[in-house]
Amino acid sequence: MQHDGLWQAVLGEIELSVSRGNFVTWFKTTTLLKQDDGLIVIGVTSIFIKRTLEKKYTELLTTVLQKNGVKVDSVEFKTVSSSSPKPSDHRDKPVVLSELQAKQSNVTSSAPATQQFAGDPKNVLSHDYGQGLNERYTLDNFVVGDGNELAFAACQSIAGQPSTKYNPLLLYGGVGIGKTHLIQAVGNAIAAHDPKAKILYISTEQFVREFVQALRLRTTAAFASYYRTADVLIVDDIQFIAGKDKTQEEFFHTFNTLHQANKQIIMSSDKPPKEIHGLEARLQSRFAGGMSIDMQIPDFETRCAIIETKAANHGTALDPEVIEYLATNGQTNIRELEGALNQLLAWCEMRNIEPTLDLTASLLNVSKTRPKHLSAKQIIERTARHFQIPIEDIVGPKRDKDIVVPRQVAMYMLRNELHLSFPKIARELGRKDHTTAIHSVDKIQKESQVDAALRNAISEIKEHLYA
Ligand code: ADP
Ligand code: MG
Repeated sequence: MQHDGLWQAVLGEIELSVSRGNFVTWFKTTTLLKQDDGLIVIGVTSIFIKRTLEKKYTELLTTVLQKNGVKVDSVEFKTVSSSSPKPSDHRDKPVVLSELQAKQSNVTSSAPATQQFAGDPKNVLSHDYGQGLNERYTLDNFVVGDGNELAFAACQSIAGQPSTKYNPLLLYGGVGIGKTHLIQAVGNAIAAHDPKAKILYISTEQFVREFVQALRLRTTAAFASYYRTADVLIVDDIQFIAGKDKTQEEFFHTFNTLHQANKQIIMSSDKPPKEIHGLEARLQSRFAGGMSIDMQIPDFETRCAIIETKAANHGTALDPEVIEYLATNGQTNIRELEGALNQLLAWCEMRNIEPTLDLTASLLNVSKTRPKHLSAKQIIERTARHFQIPIEDIVGPKRDKDIVVPRQVAMYMLRNELHLSFPKIARELGRKDHTTAIHSVDKIQKESQVDAALRNAISEIKEHLYA
């Protein structure tokens, strides 16, 4: 019991000296098991926490313990048996938070529409403030470590006090490393504090689409006033605005209006502004005018912690070796990591078996082997045929919707069936920029989860390919 008081004091101090994300991920679930004449034994709930504390935080723990009058000769970490209520215990917070948000979103959805434009009902934009936010993404269920720590800290700070520091905030980095998660989480956190705040989350593609539509319907004034009266504007994948001159101009004015009114702007991009080709110089300088943070794929320990957390949310406690295997094997981003984990969990659930290392290894290897008889050309041809468009169009320059979607599906198939690299996929479809391939695969992946027709199209194409 004495231990408890001492440990609370130690944790209290540590909380002040590390970022909140690091505290929650690495310290929050620790306990003091033993304090015996200079020997300190700290209980941890997972081997990954143990390793990280050993590697990075022994000194800090020693200092803080000593400050609290404890004699410290050596600090040891012991994993407390996995029979302790690990899964739900560690991540009880997100549930509470999302419940709160669910309540709040009920409040907003039952309220009258915040934005009504005069005149033609067609002028009403397709979404409402707050609508773009997905409550699945929270700051509490984001695992913090090397690679994303700084981005997390900035988001945490904005969530607490929007528009004071870091405006605009721009997170940039490769695909699947948590940019959307973090910027969405800030929106959710601000909404939780202030349900009345007009928070607008929008993908750049949607912004472009809406603007083009507004031009066509001559409703640009309504469009502008909608975006320019937001309290928080969150724009995802801003690199897609490159080369779209009119939209850039519109966005420039929106940006200025909001910034001058001291409203928070948050953006994500796959590269730093100066490397976005076709981005106007004045936007480049605006984007870089606040805080730009480079996000990297988190280090091994953090990836392990992410897998462990996600498995725990699913109610499964995985063996450390399975987690390590997943975190090590050829995973280049967290989205893929999650995909591999979900595949494993689904496989085991359907067959009611335990996820062992052997099974994991064979499952992931199987899914990586390329079917020998299948070529990229066959996939592209079959996809074009399915959508009844000429093969020249699918690999050609046309950008009509009825060509673009089949092209995106073909990219998705090349990735999933042949595991081709993104640059190779882009080349196969006559595209220069591999980010187009990344984006297309991602888009079809997401849309196929909600769009049954798309899902059917994909399985029909597959059936033919493997028949
Ligand atoms: P990006 O926008 O950078 O392409 P996302 O934000 O969509 O990537 O992240 C991909 C997936 O990985 C999401 O499901 C997200 O929740 C998850 N993810 C990424 N980083 C983390 C993290 N540090 N902790 C928990 N989940 C993460
Ligand atoms: Mg994203």
